[in-house]
Amino acid sequence: MQVYLTDYAQPLHLDATQQSLRTPLIDNTFYGQTYQRRCHFYRQRGNYCLDRDFRPAQWSKVNASGGMLRICATEQDYPRESFEHVALVTALHLQKAQRFFVNSTGQDVPSMSLLVMPFFRTIYTDKKGELQQRLMYRNIVYYPASKSLTVLPDHDNFHGRGLWESPFIIAHEFAHHAQFAGRPKWATTLAADGGHHHRLPDNVPKRSLEAFLEGWADLYAFYAEGENPSDIISYPCFGYNRDIANPVFADRSPKTITPDIMAGFYAGTATSSSCVRPNFSDTHTIGAVLAHHLHRIVSFVLHSWDETPSPAVKYRYVHGWLSRVFDQVEDKGSDKDLLRTIIAAIFRAIERELAQRLSEEAVALERTTAQVCALFEAGFPTLSGCQPRETSGGASREGPGDAQH
Ligand SMILES: [Zn+2]
Repeated sequence: MQVYLTDYAQPLHLDATQQSLRTPLIDNTFYGQTYQRRCHFYRQRGNYCLDRDFRPAQWSKVNASGGMLRICATEQDYPRESFEHVALVTALHLQKAQRFFVNSTGQDVPSMSLLVMPFFRTIYTDKKGELQQRLMYRNIVYYPASKSLTVLPDHDNFHGRGLWESPFIIAHEFAHHAQFAGRPKWATTLAADGGHHHRLPDNVPKRSLEAFLEGWADLYAFYAEGENPSDIISYPCFGYNRDIANPVFADRSPKTITPDIMAGFYAGTATSSSCVRPNFSDTHTIGAVLAHHLHRIVSFVLHSWDETPSPAVKYRYVHGWLSRVFDQVEDKGSDKDLLRTIIAAIFRAIERELAQRLSEEAVALERTTAQVCALFEAGFPTLSGCQPRETSGGASREGPGDAQH
């Protein structure tokens, strides 16, 4: 069954056999649930939700109460603030994101569940042994272990737009779903801290992996949106920083991961509390730098043999490289320098691609590899492990000349 939503040109495909909101991608939609989780906060461990043995609280300790979201197919004018409207619009954006994934990679993803609820409540015991609670709201979180996207609706937080109304943001969340497809081990590990967007400052390997996954998800959303950043830029504060096409953050500082910045990221020290200035202890900020430079690099690489690669073609290559890197680092849970390891692995994946593609053209292979190395050096000085070198004049306008040492 097709349903057209007011203000949206594309129809949403609903599964007509179910009363609850169900699509080919979404097999369950829940609403209005209150999630409760008992846990203990220990400030010296970063004030995150840990159990008595200092292990991250497990998703399985969550208790749920609520119901299936039923959609009346003949009633399309749900109020904007209603659970039904939020769920339908989110489902529509997810449908679009899934189609881009299938078209670009030739693969599909498992089904997922969708939750729309006013807030996420965490019940915990403080140092005096008294019960306290925290609420999370106005957010969107993908939980890999339960393959669920949770929308905590905000209707007026960002100049009158909800996060759930952004195709870019929903595509970003869909990308997390795709990243964990077929990777049950990581899905469980990364979900253990209560959700993908929660951070454990003292866990460098986990945060490095999260930064990698955030950058990958932003790249996905950017290409799924046809390389048009207008949607994400329309969100004040973080939107400008997450514009992949832009080489600078909102405060005009360059998107570059220097060894100093990486050391700060590893230490978990916040470099800014401002909305505009980038905070390099945030995995999304590191991810934004990764995404910007990978976009430049994939565009350069593909232009070397294809005049005008489409966003879907670009993503197909990015997906191949980053999936391989994810597989390689999956067992490096104790690598205290994992971000550097990841950047070097991405370079090697691209280097191999070039070697295969340009195997008959030794000169072109050497020149292009050197140029890609220079692009890595520009974005991640000294971190990629490649050996930059001078090439003959005019070989690259955005190559060695841009390298920063
Ligand atoms: Zn994310």
